[in-house]
Amino acid sequence: MFPAYKHEAFTDFTVEENRKAMEEALKQVKATFGKHYNLLVGSEQITTEEKIVSINPSNKEEVIGSVSKANQEIAEKAIETAYQAFQTWQYTDPVERANILVRAAAIVRRRKYEFSATLVAEAGKPWKEADADIAEGIDFMEYYARQMIELKQGKNVQSRPGEHNRYFYIPTGVAVTIPPWNFAFAIMVGTTVAPLVTGNTVLLKPASTTPVVAAKFVEVLQKAGIPEGVINFIPGSGAEVGDYLVDHPKTSLITFTGSRDVGTRLYSRAAKVQQNQNHLKRVIVEMGGKDTVIVDKDADIDIAVDAIVTSAFGFSGQKCSAGSRAVIHDDVYDEVLDKVVKRTNELTVGEPTTKDIYMGPVIDQAAYDKITDYIEIGKQEGRLVAGGEGDDSKGYFIKPTIIADVDVEARIMQEEIFGPVVAFAKAKDFDHALEIANNSEYGLTGAVITNNRAHINKATMEFHVGNLYFNRNCTGAIVGYQPFGGFKMSGTDSKAGGPDYLALHMQAKTVSESF
Ligand code: NAD
Repeated sequence: MFPAYKHEAFTDFTVEENRKAMEEALKQVKATFGKHYNLLVGSEQITTEEKIVSINPSNKEEVIGSVSKANQEIAEKAIETAYQAFQTWQYTDPVERANILVRAAAIVRRRKYEFSATLVAEAGKPWKEADADIAEGIDFMEYYARQMIELKQGKNVQSRPGEHNRYFYIPTGVAVTIPPWNFAFAIMVGTTVAPLVTGNTVLLKPASTTPVVAAKFVEVLQKAGIPEGVINFIPGSGAEVGDYLVDHPKTSLITFTGSRDVGTRLYSRAAKVQQNQNHLKRVIVEMGGKDTVIVDKDADIDIAVDAIVTSAFGFSGQKCSAGSRAVIHDDVYDEVLDKVVKRTNELTVGEPTTKDIYMGPVIDQAAYDKITDYIEIGKQEGRLVAGGEGDDSKGYFIKPTIIADVDVEARIMQEEIFGPVVAFAKAKDFDHALEIANNSEYGLTGAVITNNRAHINKATMEFHVGNLYFNRNCTGAIVGYQPFGGFKMSGTDSKAGGPDYLALHMQAKTVSESF
């Protein structure tokens, strides 16, 4: 029915035509700055007095747009609407549901530059990162659409003479989608369309720093033919609306990606059975990381340097997969550190108005303050060898920062900073490096740079992370190629973009007929 799944190609901005298209899109998006986006409940567009205002993190004076802000009354109405829509959507042919995703993917692909430009403005993403974020969102739609078609028949079970058995999947009900701002398109799209294509109806509460790109995506879903009430757009405060949705007896699936603190809180709230609730809630929570790049003594040093710099500073370290710890074998520590410092000092930081800016701003004042506080802590805990400064006069810019000779128990080795800061620690041998890498409450991603086959085998078994990479960076998982999710306090390991993901949004039904 559809061609086989293949991931969306990245845009090459060194090609003149592509560069110009992006410049044009940036201009077009700028012309829409300040626009207001309504809530969507069923087919009703709702404008509220209170608004969430989205600003450009590169230039705090610049308002990207605003969205109306839901309160509990609107949330209640949205839940009821989604609940009613579920009564028919759950029986819609999965192929029809999949087709909506494929059409939405086609619309976004046609408007790819515009969506990338929106992320440059709203999330401060450098061009390459914005383009990859949009490509990943397209991938989620294309991948889950195909997977749903495969799953629609259910799975084989045995039948006997006089007895016919079937095993197939049905949806759970009303899903609450709470995505983070850092993959403001990709994760928002993935965690919205997975419940939709599996037959659930969705209440989407976007991250408050990046609601505009989410509002635009909801419009795309409408254009692609999503029936009314199946997707509801209700931006709002976590404390007021978030908790209300999570606690409500009529919601049945919570899909959250974000910080450990909020995730664990939602996990326990969703476990509580409320009055008039007649089901247990499914909960997917994907949380933080403290990810390590290990460099063995027998390693290609250029690959190691590249892996550390890319993992630590891509999108200013604001990825759950960011390599914020570099653990280096004693024999090559000085060489690797020197080369990483040199490369880091060459990175360009600024407003991502051209393809040549490697690092843009961090997302907001709170992030800026938190990261610069950690840099001060780092200066006490180790030796500052690169960066160490920020400037928040116009936007939230922080230089890529390296703290060397850090103790493995130091705070900057243990806590998620979520900014452009990497801590270097020495390991006396490979076993010691693995021990340091595993010494974290998180278990999301990791990379090992080594040419030693025995060490590759050992790390494969013992490096306890959901996504492990050899001889490359620890960021940049691709949908359908590297299913993504972490162990320990990194979350429920749902493996987004993988073969088991959709099943988490459904329940299996066994039907046995005797005749
Ligand atoms: P966050 O926890 O602050 O917010 C995540 C979402 O939760 C946002 O939409 C926010 O509005 C909402 N929220 C906050 N309080 C809420 C409440 N009480 N009820 C309901 N919703 C509430 O996280 P963030 O700053 O947006 O994202 C960064 C974090 O996300 C980092 O820790 C990062 O590692 C993690 N992350 C993890 C993955 C993964 O796949 N494991 C991917 C991306 C980001």
